[in-house]
Amino acid sequence: MTLAYRMLSNGRLLDLPATLPVLDPATEKEIARVPDCTAELLDATVQAARSAFPGWRDTPYAQRAERLLALAARIKAHADELALLITQEQGRPLPMAKAEVSTTVHWLRGTAQLVLPMTERIDAQGVRWTTRRVPLGVVAAIAPWNFPLTLAAMKLGPALLAGNTLILKPSPFTPLATLRLGELAADLFPPGVLNVLTGGDALGPMITAHPGIAKVGFTGSTATGRRVMASAAPTLKHLTLELGGNDAAVVLPDADPVKTARRLFMGAFLNSGQVCIAAKRIYVHESIYDRFATAFAEAARATRMGPGTEEGVTIGPIQNRQQYERVKSLIEDCRASGHRFLAGGDIPAGPGYFIPPTVLDNPPEDSRIVQEEPFGPVVPLLRYASVDEAVQRANATEYGLGALVWSNDVEAARAVAARLEAGTVWINALHLLDPQVPFAGRKQSGLGVENGVEGLLAYTAVQTLVG
Ligand code: NAD
Repeated sequence: MTLAYRMLSNGRLLDLPATLPVLDPATEKEIARVPDCTAELLDATVQAARSAFPGWRDTPYAQRAERLLALAARIKAHADELALLITQEQGRPLPMAKAEVSTTVHWLRGTAQLVLPMTERIDAQGVRWTTRRVPLGVVAAIAPWNFPLTLAAMKLGPALLAGNTLILKPSPFTPLATLRLGELAADLFPPGVLNVLTGGDALGPMITAHPGIAKVGFTGSTATGRRVMASAAPTLKHLTLELGGNDAAVVLPDADPVKTARRLFMGAFLNSGQVCIAAKRIYVHESIYDRFATAFAEAARATRMGPGTEEGVTIGPIQNRQQYERVKSLIEDCRASGHRFLAGGDIPAGPGYFIPPTVLDNPPEDSRIVQEEPFGPVVPLLRYASVDEAVQRANATEYGLGALVWSNDVEAARAVAARLEAGTVWINALHLLDPQVPFAGRKQSGLGVENGVEGLLAYTAVQTLVG
């Protein structure tokens, strides 16, 4: 059945022709169509968001926080419906889609607790210096397709809490849960405060160049991040860019090889590897490499791949054809280069963008599979001899998003973690994130900060009152 979804603009759910097809990546069949926002509608929405700005800016902070909680409650009440949409459009197994909806609720609630700092000082001459934080105006949030709802909430929450009005644009590959979020939120905010627009490839660049938009919060690839930055330059927009990563996991010689392999496996293959902070290069000390590799490959063979709606499935399809072709080409490059496969590598005929968990045995450091972000279910295991060497190899990348260290000795692991050039380093843990803790990519993994008070400050400007 083809369903139509409506965009939210200026408090109205628009009944416009839906022209852009949305596919289920497990079947490649069309499951819905969504509208394609025109330049005129974007202009009108920006104008509405600008008109709504003074009223929302002057709404008491506690009331804005309360609206975020109301949105969280509305999402929770529709959790099953939203999770099914995520599975259908994104491909992930339903329990993991449910987890995304819960995380989104948790994020909005946690963000609503954040407090904007204000400082005041009276100097020796009796002059009063007050520095406070004010919202920027109209903010645009541009989200990717891997975690459509949570990554949208990471922008929506702080932007609205700080007193901005918002235009939210999901990826054209995964617009459904986000459009549904707009429908559910339509009566929770004054008209123009929250808007949800969908479109094809032209909409993102129209947003980033729009003179009426003050800031862009963007999550996506590093290549697109560069384009966003260039397009935002003429109007000097504020930017937060959360970009790609090629995260290294360093397994120290004292780690339990079998237990660590089993745990790290999901750290590499969750969401079919389509996670910005997935373990994408796994450095294992030579003394435990073989036992680690055997257990890791066993875990790969034990997964059940299939449509996310099927019970017991742990690995769904790749989200879209473009990404599927990219991951396939990396696997073909591994084969052509003679790298040894420990698991996977055989890609079934369609329909569906399915690629089994694929594990490579110690390919050369300069191979594509080590150097590039695969963003799919293919992971190289890499043998190292000394910790200094592992740190040097882990840091030898343009990316600096996350990293992982595994050891029985937490202090030794923390010492290694401190030497890794990454915004977040997990120690014996997988990808814990918290709405109250800042998250930021270093090097070409990003610009600015998301989450925590620092993330909230990124949706404000400083205003100092003197006297
Ligand atoms: P993408 O860069 O292709 O697209 C992201 C969003 O940008 C989509 O909404 C897309 O429509 C839009 N867009 C595309 N071109 C644009 C342009 N020129 N101007 C403005 N907007 C444009 O990314 P993707 O393929 O959807 O997501 C995968 C990438 O995102 C991976 O590299 C992954 O590591 C990264 N990612 C990073 C984080 C993080 O927090 N750092 C989180 C999730 C994903």
